[in-house]
Amino acid sequence: MLKLLNIDFNKQSMPTRLVMEPVQSIDSICGVHGAYIGEVFRFTNQDRVSGCPKCLEEGYQKQAVSDLAKTRKLLQESNARRLFRQSMLPEKYLTATFNSYKPICDESRYVLKVIQNYSRNFEQLQKKGTSLIFHGNPGTGKTFLSCATAKHIQEHFTSKKVLYCTYGQMIDSIRQAYSDSTISKTDRIQSFIEPDLLIIDEIGIANETTDEYVLFNRVMDGRYLATAKPVILISNYSIEQVNSKLGAAVMDRLRESCSFPLGFSWEESYRKNIADENRNEVCDLLGI
Ligand SMILES: [Zn+2]
Repeated sequence: MLKLLNIDFNKQSMPTRLVMEPVQSIDSICGVHGAYIGEVFRFTNQDRVSGCPKCLEEGYQKQAVSDLAKTRKLLQESNARRLFRQSMLPEKYLTATFNSYKPICDESRYVLKVIQNYSRNFEQLQKKGTSLIFHGNPGTGKTFLSCATAKHIQEHFTSKKVLYCTYGQMIDSIRQAYSDSTISKTDRIQSFIEPDLLIIDEIGIANETTDEYVLFNRVMDGRYLATAKPVILISNYSIEQVNSKLGAAVMDRLRESCSFPLGFSWEESYRKNIADENRNEVCDLLGI
């Protein structure tokens, strides 16, 4: 403790607020530490005795510990923000965590449990190339849980890189390299192959053209060949529709690396629950 922040409190002279000489020394008593020699300083109207040096020292130590804790917290926060920016998670899911997801039925509780286990055991599952496919009804929390997964993995396995994008964003980003000669196509595709986990949302929303499909396949092939890197694919379509949209080649590879589809097939909308909570808050604020 005394060596905290490389300050040796035994050697460090205590800073004094006023540079003035004491006029005398007197025996003083501290309620906590007992007797000490107090220095008397003369001010215009009165004399003041210096405080207990041990109390002063403890005060400095407490301050140093609290400053250190504050610095650590700031670093953690800025680290979390940096990781969040790097992973390109949507801004509105900045606060998404497993604890803030409220399952509303047995099915959603099951899905939450599997996804939490996936995040906790990511290191082992990553080695096996295990991917997840979130499919089913809109508004059931698929994007929310994928962002909570990304955040959990980045917080607990700090060396892991996670990237979130929609299918459309990924295709647009790669296409940009095809129309702009200053951007390397290989580098752009590699940026989607490199992350330890790639989350692709909104599968099936865009009108997939053959050309898009080729680009998508290049990313999936690259990830598969790079020791089966996992993906989380998200779609509002049924697993049969996802199967046909992704094509046999991609689905075969996903199956080979022991990937699991997770059905979000309950009816009640997760967004509706949030909306209800918001509505209650608004009603409270309006007093209606
Ligand atoms: Zn004292």
